[in-house]
Amino acid sequence: MHCPHTEQGSGRQVCSHLLGGLDDNWTTEQFRHYRRFTGHSLNYVLTCPECREYPLSELSWVCDPCFVEIAHGSRLGTSGRPQVAETDSGLKLQQVDSLPPEANLLQVVPFEKGWAALTETNELILLDSGRRRAFPLARWELPLYEELTLVAREPYVAIASTFGTRGVVVDTATGQVSMSLERAPSPACRFPLGFTRDGLLVHGPQLSDPASGAPVKTLHNPEDFHQSSLSPSPDQGWLAMNGWVWHPMGEVRLLNLNEDRPSRALCRRDGLCDAPLVWLGPNRLGVWGLGELDVMLLPGLRVFDLETQQELSPILGPEGPFAFDQYLFCHTTEDGFSVWDIETGQRVYLHPQVHPLAYHPAEKLFLVQTPQGLTLNRLQ
Ligand SMILES: [Zn+2]
Ligand SMILES: [Zn+2]
Repeated sequence: MHCPHTEQGSGRQVCSHLLGGLDDNWTTEQFRHYRRFTGHSLNYVLTCPECREYPLSELSWVCDPCFVEIAHGSRLGTSGRPQVAETDSGLKLQQVDSLPPEANLLQVVPFEKGWAALTETNELILLDSGRRRAFPLARWELPLYEELTLVAREPYVAIASTFGTRGVVVDTATGQVSMSLERAPSPACRFPLGFTRDGLLVHGPQLSDPASGAPVKTLHNPEDFHQSSLSPSPDQGWLAMNGWVWHPMGEVRLLNLNEDRPSRALCRRDGLCDAPLVWLGPNRLGVWGLGELDVMLLPGLRVFDLETQQELSPILGPEGPFAFDQYLFCHTTEDGFSVWDIETGQRVYLHPQVHPLAYHPAEKLFLVQTPQGLTLNRLQ
C-alpha cells in the first residue's frame, strides 16, 4: 500500500492504519502514533500502537507531505534506538570517592570547591568534595512542587520557578537574599537566568549586579521575541538564548555582551521554543535537534562556529542535557550516560545505568546519586 503521491518502495513508511487515516480525514488527535527507529542511521517509521512490532517490509509507503501530516498527530512515544557512530576509546567512568548521604537532591550545579545543591528538604547546601562534607548555604520556603532553575557563580546562587514568574538571588556568604527576580507570565518559556563569565546576572533582557540588584545593561532583542532559557559562554562574552516569535517559530538567538549590537538569530525551528544548548569551546555552540520542524526533529547536535558564522557538521544521535570538557557528555533517564568525540562525531563511551547529577569542570568530577549515597566519579 502507498499514498497516491508516491510509489511502493519510495518515500517514507507508516503502518496501514495511519495511511488509512489520511483517506478518512482523521484529525491530528486521531493520528496517535509511535516513532520507531529502524536501527539504520537516524531513520524511523511511524506506526499506530498496535503495529509497534510489525515487520518493516510490510509497512506502507507515503510521500513527505503525507508523512508530515501523520507526524503532526499525537506522539505516544518512541521505540528502537537510532544507530550512532561508535568506537571504543578505553575511557571508563570510575568512582574515586563518596560523599555523606544527603536528602534526595533536586538540582545540583558546580560551585566553589564542590557543588551547590537544592535538597528535597528545602535547603540549599554546599557539597564540599575536598572535605567530604555538606554545609548549609541557605534555607527558605521554595515552591518545590514546581520545576526550579538553579544557576550559580560564587558566592551567588540564583533560583527561579522554571515556568513561573518569580525567583531570588542568594548571597551564600550571608545566606541572605540579595535580589528578587520577577518576569511577566510566559508559560511556554523557561525563566531566562544565567551568570556571565564576569559574574553578572542575566535575567530576561536585563544584566544586573547580583550583589545589589543594580541594572547594568539591557539586551537588544526584537520586541516580539519571547525569551526562554539562556546559556552564557563560560569563557567569552557570548550569550545564547532560546525563545520564540509568533507563530510560534522557535529561535536560538545570539549576542556578544562586549558589543552594543542587537542579538541575531542563529537558527529557527518551527514549534520548538526551547532545547538544550552547550558551549563546545570559546566560539563554538552546540544546539540540540536536527531539522526545521518540531515533529520531525531528530536527536543530535548542530554545531555553530561563531567566529566564522558557519554551521559545521552535526553530531548525529546525542540527546541533552549536555556538558562539555574536551568531550561531549550527555545524560538521559532512558539511555543513561554517554560520552562523544565532537571531532569525529562518534560515541566513545556509554553506561546505561549511570545517572550523573552534574559535572564539575574544574575538579573533572561527576556527581552521581546512587541508592547508597553520593559518589564522585572520574572519566579516565
Ligand atoms: Zn497500525
Ligand atoms: Zn502523499
